[in-house]
Amino acid sequence: MLRNNDTPTRLSRRQALKLGAGAFAASLAAGLGLSTARSWAAGTGNTLTQVRNATLRINYGGVRFLVDPLLADKGTYPGFEGSANSELRNPLVPLPMPVDHILDVDAVIVTHLHSDHWDDAAKARLPKSMPILAQNDEDAAVISGSGFTDVRVLTEATEFNGVRLAKTAGQHGTDDTLRAIPPLGQVCGVAFRQPGAKTLYLAGDTIWNSHVEKAITEHRPDVIVLNAGKAVMTGFPPIIMGEADVLAVHRAAPDAVLIASHMEAINHCVLTRAELRAFSEREGFASSLLIPADGETLRV
Ligand SMILES: [Zn+2]
Repeated sequence: MLRNNDTPTRLSRRQALKLGAGAFAASLAAGLGLSTARSWAAGTGNTLTQVRNATLRINYGGVRFLVDPLLADKGTYPGFEGSANSELRNPLVPLPMPVDHILDVDAVIVTHLHSDHWDDAAKARLPKSMPILAQNDEDAAVISGSGFTDVRVLTEATEFNGVRLAKTAGQHGTDDTLRAIPPLGQVCGVAFRQPGAKTLYLAGDTIWNSHVEKAITEHRPDVIVLNAGKAVMTGFPPIIMGEADVLAVHRAAPDAVLIASHMEAINHCVLTRAELRAFSEREGFASSLLIPADGETLRV
């Protein structure tokens, strides 16, 4: 079993009750200084493993999804040109677990094709027969062009092995930023739904906006995953969520548990986990926010 080698999960009682008995047990374990990590293969409940950056392993409804794989070794790629801290090489941190375990899934969801969400290492390492779920025909064609033979397009009513997946909209920056930097392009999120299970909404690379608000209204998620590293292109406002966006999501969905991802792994993400944690404490919503370390698994 893989053990978490970073900060143990800290859950408030209220948050643990929201997440269920497993999480409450985990919070007790954390209180006792025990690891809360589980094997990605173990257990029957739904789990989310923060791998690195926006790369997640989500076990939902008995299906093992890999989201937005960035699988290269630490420092493989140059920093994004024209962005904050571009002298740093990406990824900033290593993978927290062996690649073979990350790849042991039933399907891959690619929210968009930016290289920190679908990288050359992922293209090279994933089996070409792996089902890949893309946001639109254009992305699907590019993925197929890399040799993948089972590429599907997400819709508002996709089903994969009994799990209902609904594509949600997002926007990777403000209107002005997108006009100035067209390659930021189209992005999506996904709502995971199954009778009897908590609804999980993965917002993807978006800032807080009417798309996110609409997805919350439509899907009424119990758990919301936010890409919250506050990525900055030089001279523009952030192109993914920062602390103010996370607070806005909390205000729109006060009963949901928020999970912050896409942090501390890519050069231009300027918000640290510690800063987001401190902000949430100051603003009084820390009990609704989980900020998993890389390699950490949460029961959702
Ligand atoms: Zn990203």
